[in-house]
Amino acid sequence: MAETWGHPYDSPRAFGESKNVWVITASNPGMMTGPGTNTYVVGRQDLAVIDPGPDLVDHVEAITSFGAHKIRWILVTHTHPDHAPGARRLADLTGAELLGFEARDGFVPDETIGDSFSLELPEGVLRAIYTPGHASNHLCYLFEPDGVLFSGDHVMDGSTVVIAPPDGDMKDYLASLAFLRDSTLHLASIAPGHGNKIESPRDKLDEYITHRARREAAILESLHHRSRALIEEIVSDVYVDVPDFLHPIAKYSVWAHLRKLRGDHAVEFNQSSQVEGDLRSPGPTNEELGGTWYLSS
Ligand SMILES: [Zn+2]
Repeated sequence: MAETWGHPYDSPRAFGESKNVWVITASNPGMMTGPGTNTYVVGRQDLAVIDPGPDLVDHVEAITSFGAHKIRWILVTHTHPDHAPGARRLADLTGAELLGFEARDGFVPDETIGDSFSLELPEGVLRAIYTPGHASNHLCYLFEPDGVLFSGDHVMDGSTVVIAPPDGDMKDYLASLAFLRDSTLHLASIAPGHGNKIESPRDKLDEYITHRARREAAILESLHHRSRALIEEIVSDVYVDVPDFLHPIAKYSVWAHLRKLRGDHAVEFNQSSQVEGDLRSPGPTNEELGGTWYLSS
């Protein structure tokens, strides 16, 4: 059986010491998905499944057989193709109720949920926390009282979250990170959508915020030296610590930073334009991605 980081794909395993959380990793490893998408099963009597992942028959059947007729709810953190498409097949196999922020990207919830929605299980409560930024429809789920935060793609282990405009928004993303870090919520661990358990949630959130602040400062520094710059030029200045093959993806995060900085009146763009384009159609698909940026005077 194929393995990811020492764990067989589609094979349920306990999440750390938790008695209430299991993880099943889908066999979709890649540049954007790390070792694969983590599907979490929460509870012991009535079960909730978070992020069934892509629509992979073996994966969905592994979730179904592990759930043994006890799966009652299916929640998605957001509707990206590596997180939500398996939900329909899993619902058809189990009769479970689909819960998510909105109908989008082929995902259609039975119930639309948002910030502060809570789902009561015998072992605790799953609470939705609206965390836009990586995607505008992103929810994290906090399992209380255990303090396990199911972070989807808001926080990952081992790879950097990409913020791809226009749906991705850096200002929202930073605000969502800061909200969690500064909240009084009991956060004991993070269960990321990709990678392994994160033990010190607030340290990790702080590290993410610091990392983005450094990138933003480096982008401003690049613009200071170049006067006017294309996004790829900024990437080559700022992402010296990242292998070249990741630079086409880094363009999107730089673009997201620039849009935030424009909102802060720190930078300007040489033309106003309608924005479109996303990670599924990479390249300079519009004037913002292909045009030049400069510091506001
Ligand atoms: Zn995503």
